[in-house]
Amino acid sequence: MKTYNKKEVREKLNIEQIYGLLEEWGGLPEYTDFGILSSTICHNPPGEGSRKLYYYSNTDLFQCYTGCGSFDIFELLVKIAKIQWNKEFDLNDAVRYIAIKFGLAGEQEDIGEEALIDWKTLNAYDRIQELEIKDYHVELKEYDKTILDRMNYNVKILPWLKEGITQEVMDYNKIGYYPGAAQITIPHFDINGRFIGLRGRSLCQPDIDMYGKYRPIMIPHGDKPLLYNHPLGMILHNINNSKDNIKQTGRAIIFEGEKSSLLYQSYFGIENDISVACCGSNISAYQIQLLLDCDVQEITIAFDRQFKEIGDEEFKHLTNNLTKINDRYKNYVDISIIFDKKMITGYKDSPIDCNKEIFLRLWKERIKL
Ligand SMILES: [Zn+2]
Repeated sequence: MKTYNKKEVREKLNIEQIYGLLEEWGGLPEYTDFGILSSTICHNPPGEGSRKLYYYSNTDLFQCYTGCGSFDIFELLVKIAKIQWNKEFDLNDAVRYIAIKFGLAGEQEDIGEEALIDWKTLNAYDRIQELEIKDYHVELKEYDKTILDRMNYNVKILPWLKEGITQEVMDYNKIGYYPGAAQITIPHFDINGRFIGLRGRSLCQPDIDMYGKYRPIMIPHGDKPLLYNHPLGMILHNINNSKDNIKQTGRAIIFEGEKSSLLYQSYFGIENDISVACCGSNISAYQIQLLLDCDVQEITIAFDRQFKEIGDEEFKHLTNNLTKINDRYKNYVDISIIFDKKMITGYKDSPIDCNKEIFLRLWKERIKL
């Protein structure tokens, strides 16, 4: 095993990669003028903390305003490893983990195998960003489906109906409401229809400010609440529904959010659905592999219009991210990108948010890099 030079790795790490790590660790990151705002995954499991973890791009340091103080990405990973994976990482482990994940070489020296943690026992988290697509399969933990019976399906979810998602599609996807937390509930299934996670979309503004719009649902369960979470990079939401059509047409569309998939089904019919959602702005090698297993020939990336004007900071992040995704996977499959450069959709809109016509126009104008 090798050691890596911490300073060198940190200097090579860019803000999109930091953002990707926060996303993968469940921090629900957003770009801001100072850097990145995230939930306090430094001392909370994902879905529980408030939005008080700041990343400052000028210093490369995090600041947790509920008590952990100041630390860098490696020290954050040491905390994450303990909270989320039950692993004792030291700083060298953290540096090595990040260097390997992003292929940032750094200075290397041999320090002997036995002193190091066993990488094979690390759970699936570290495999999802592997640069080489490999034919591996990970069986995620299945949750007890009966919990879904405790959600309310009689409430009309008016905001979503107004946006164009039909009741039929909501019923088909078992979209419910959890009164305990005032959240719309979105069950996640793997490609074989196993129930692997339950995400909630908050309807209550103070909660949105505190935790972000989406988070895993937490349900009281004996003396300890059960968090219905799963590593988002290991799933493609809706692939259980769209896999046969993807096989038949050779095409798939990857949206960021689950709602876009619901809209796609509402506009074009459940029987014509070729959509999936990656639940973030990262597409992992594993997610591409899931689509390759469905014999996909062309993958269209249909991310949100996360920029106000051409050339602004967010525009740079988005184009950078899309270029990176394209470069990583173009040798495995045709990649096309829906990019609203004429800005006919709104700020932060998914390409499918406005209406069917606008989506089809953007689809026809999709680009290949
Ligand atoms: Zn903290």
